[in-house]
Amino acid sequence: MQIVFIGPPGSGKGTQCQMLAGVLGIPHLSTGELLRRTRGRSPLGDLVSSYIDRGCLAPDFLILPLVMRLLEQQDFASGCLFDGFPRTVYQAGYLRGHLASIGQQVSVVLHLNVDEEELVSRLEARAVLEGRADDHRSGISQRLKIYRRRTEPVLAFYHNSGLVCEVDGQQSPDDVHRAIMAKIQGLLGT
Ligand code: AMP
Repeated sequence: MQIVFIGPPGSGKGTQCQMLAGVLGIPHLSTGELLRRTRGRSPLGDLVSSYIDRGCLAPDFLILPLVMRLLEQQDFASGCLFDGFPRTVYQAGYLRGHLASIGQQVSVVLHLNVDEEELVSRLEARAVLEGRADDHRSGISQRLKIYRRRTEPVLAFYHNSGLVCEVDGQQSPDDVHRAIMAKIQGLLGT
């Protein structure tokens, strides 16, 4: 299964992907994590940091080869839990083309809905706990702005194919997980 998570920063995509990866045995691909791992290691890593720290999207010439190289690995043959990708309509089209070239397609898009006040308080708490450089106040509002402008249109892209499932991400992580599992079991007819 190719499962795409879409939701603003702080909506719980990473947590839900980790929980689902354990149950479904499908690998979790977090592009944010992938980029954070390259930072500070090379001139390319420094370039990556400059985008992440400002809360801006990394350019496609950096992100697309990284993602495509991973998807070609054997681990991803059974599918992928996409966390943070695609983040633009261009990336969504690119992913569709790549999957079509291997005879596959996105199975479902899980849209995690969380209201803005809750997102800001979760991200501020994460800044204290994990010390992520982009979780400071101006970084948070920039990332939310970019989400609305660049990533929400990805939902419209997938809506046209009837792939989007709405999930109430405001609930506890366990309740969100249960809601997601119910939707996936419905899709699998189990
Ligand atoms: P995340 O961990 O998903 O919140 O991502 C952290 C940061 O990594 C984002 O604010 C972007 O700077 C960058 N990033 C992650 N995924 C992408 C993507 N698909 N396209 C461009 N930039 C990305």
